[in-house]
Amino acid sequence: MRVLKGKPVAEQTYSQLKLQCEQFVGQYGYEPSLAVVLVGDDLASTSYVQSKTKACEELGFSHRDFHLPEHVSEQELVQLITNLNEDRRVHGILVQLPLPPHIDEEAVIEAIAVEKDVDGFHPQSVGNLLIGRPGFVSCTPLGILKMLDYYQIETAGRHVVIVGRSNIVGKPMASLLIQKGRDATVTICHSKTSDLAFHTRQADILIAAIGRPNFITESMVKDGCIVIDVGINRVEDSSRARGYRLVGDVDYERVAPKSQAITPVPGGVGVMTIAMLMNNTMAAALLHAEKGVR
Ligand code: NDP
Repeated sequence: MRVLKGKPVAEQTYSQLKLQCEQFVGQYGYEPSLAVVLVGDDLASTSYVQSKTKACEELGFSHRDFHLPEHVSEQELVQLITNLNEDRRVHGILVQLPLPPHIDEEAVIEAIAVEKDVDGFHPQSVGNLLIGRPGFVSCTPLGILKMLDYYQIETAGRHVVIVGRSNIVGKPMASLLIQKGRDATVTICHSKTSDLAFHTRQADILIAAIGRPNFITESMVKDGCIVIDVGINRVEDSSRARGYRLVGDVDYERVAPKSQAITPVPGGVGVMTIAMLMNNTMAAALLHAEKGVR
């Protein structure tokens, strides 16, 4: 059984991006730049935003941070995005989700210029992905693809079963894997799937993006399956100073012995998301530079 760790893949990505960034700055005279918009003071969102800006700094990207109060109106937020769309010094725009309930997330995502949509959530980016056109792809599925490539896991002709149909993980993951060149046969399952275990047991590659701790048990996977665990769940653990530990959607202890390869949680897919955000920001900066607008 192989443990598919995210760290070496992320490290390789970061060292390539660092080099690319140096070349970019040498050629164009300015850094790739990411605008990060945070609304409110949610602890998890604040911590994600800090990790993203830290990654920018480590790579030599510039970042501009906008911290708006919880009660900011949708109109004010959309106005900020409109300004950032027009700002030539900004190449990528990231709005940290979730947004407060009085703001329509879809309207905010749609306000982002598609050429700056480094999260890949804009409907046009999603459509481009589906029909196989170039464009930005949601960072977590893109990171999973990068891991599969790094560990030389072939998807062509294999049956991939994805549990979870969210717009940020399950659906884009399926869109990526059915493209020509990836050539997987994909089944997507969700909470209304009947006899879920019947489907998961068919998987050559099982991708769990559910949000339920240890949900996938050993009876749900076939021998020799490759298991990709996207879940990040907190479970109470009084033995830890912080009172909890992180576990995936897969019952790792029981499923690992049956699998050919498996991603751990933490230490698996999780680290790839920010690496892919940086990858997309680099691509956005190149797109901008190639247009010769500055
Ligand atoms: P969502 O809550 O948006 O989607 C969860 C999906 O799981 C839904 O499609 C839901 O079905 C399905 N589901 C829920 N319960 C069941 C069930 N009993 N049987 C079958 N399917 C079920 O979650 P996300 O996609 O955003 O995230 C999934 C997990 O991945 C979370 O733990 C999250 O923390 C983690 N995550 C990790 C990231 C990273 O590594 N960087 C990034 C993003 C997410 P239905 O649609 O019918 O409700």
